[in-house]
Amino acid sequence: MEIRKPKGTNDILPEEVRKWHAIEKTAMELSDVYGYQEIRTPIFEHTELFVRGVGETTDIVGKEMYTFEDKGNRSITLRPEGTASVCRAFVENKLYGDNQVHKLYYMGPMFRYERPQKGRYKQFHQYGVELLGSNHPVTDAEIISFATELLKKMGLIDLELQINTVGCPVCKPVYRQVLIDFFSEYKEGLCPTCNERMEKNPLRILDCKNKECIEIAKEAPSMTEHVCEDCGPHYESVKGYLDAADVDYTENPRLVRGLDYYTNTAFEIIAKDFAAQGTVCGGGRYNGLVGSIGGKDVPGIGFAMGMERIILLLSEKNIFKDSKKILDYYIIALGELEEIPAFALLKKLRDHSYFAEIDYTGKNFKNKLKYADKSGAKSVIIIGENERKNKTVMIKNMETGQQEEIDLQLFINNLKEER
Ligand code: ATP
Ligand code: MG
Repeated sequence: MEIRKPKGTNDILPEEVRKWHAIEKTAMELSDVYGYQEIRTPIFEHTELFVRGVGETTDIVGKEMYTFEDKGNRSITLRPEGTASVCRAFVENKLYGDNQVHKLYYMGPMFRYERPQKGRYKQFHQYGVELLGSNHPVTDAEIISFATELLKKMGLIDLELQINTVGCPVCKPVYRQVLIDFFSEYKEGLCPTCNERMEKNPLRILDCKNKECIEIAKEAPSMTEHVCEDCGPHYESVKGYLDAADVDYTENPRLVRGLDYYTNTAFEIIAKDFAAQGTVCGGGRYNGLVGSIGGKDVPGIGFAMGMERIILLLSEKNIFKDSKKILDYYIIALGELEEIPAFALLKKLRDHSYFAEIDYTGKNFKNKLKYADKSGAKSVIIIGENERKNKTVMIKNMETGQQEEIDLQLFINNLKEER
């Protein structure tokens, strides 16, 4: 029986990979402009990292992790997100030593056990950034404006940036109790999951996708009414900096984000006409995270973008121009004796960075010419018995159809001059 890929994974075929290259390049170039350096961490980590760093009450840790025991009986998890790993690497490699702000980015596959659907997969890819070492509200604004700018540069339009504050260890517990008191009145109306969330993580009820829960949550008191004297001004400041940078935003008091370690600013960027899986970027401040995984108390803020969702949106809008590379030369050797000089010439062309191919397929001249035509090459180089003996090549310009016999050495010398 034919073996198929696991559900929720994707083969990214060459034509599609070209689109990936385009957005990866944009991401890397803008990372340079904003001063973020790449960090690469392992695809799997000790399960404990995510349990502590993401939080036991989250959907990710509760339901979505790919966890297994390895042959040494260690509990291992395929990374479901990047922030915990980056913070672990930050602590483990003592990058905090110099009291500087550290700006890192990562790109790569993440794994979550989810029900696959359009824009939602079990293996998906994220580009994400982390800014560690500062709690200054200007860093919140820098991260947010970087995210919006990057999506714009990639070609996405009609995006909505939503922001909120989720408080800190001082005001979050107070708000938590306010929410528990509020939602307790509506226990029957809430879905079973939200009833479970009530005690463990009532903020998540605000984030529930269930219709009845949404209706009830609309009336819930908002965090902004309960922020402490640190968090209130911090949030106001962030908005001030966003205004200064001309970043448009909508305040959404129900935006909480799925992860436990978020403090203060939370934000999401949503594609308006892509309803269900429309969130392309999520981020926020996580001042408690580095400390919780055993490091010093280092504040941080970051975001992660879903690359598949970005590509889906861009493809639907036909943003990608075909960037397929056009062949410079297609070489045809007419007989067996001509194959050696043809292969030597192929190597010379590639040495000079020309995109060149040799005919591996054709049986006779007519056939070979047909393939040459199909290849879309700008020029075809033909080496027959005559050319071999005369040490020349026949060059056919495929645009004009003109043919010309040129001395082989002269042709090679000219290559050097051209590039
Ligand atoms: P959602 O509410 O859609 O499940 P999330 O809050 O779980 O998103 P984050 O953990 O914030 O998502 O991840 C950041 C981004 O990564 C998301 O905004 C989304 O674009 C992308 N993403 C998350 N999970 C998936 C997935 N299973 N498949 C594809 N992309 C995903
Ligand atoms: Mg999710």
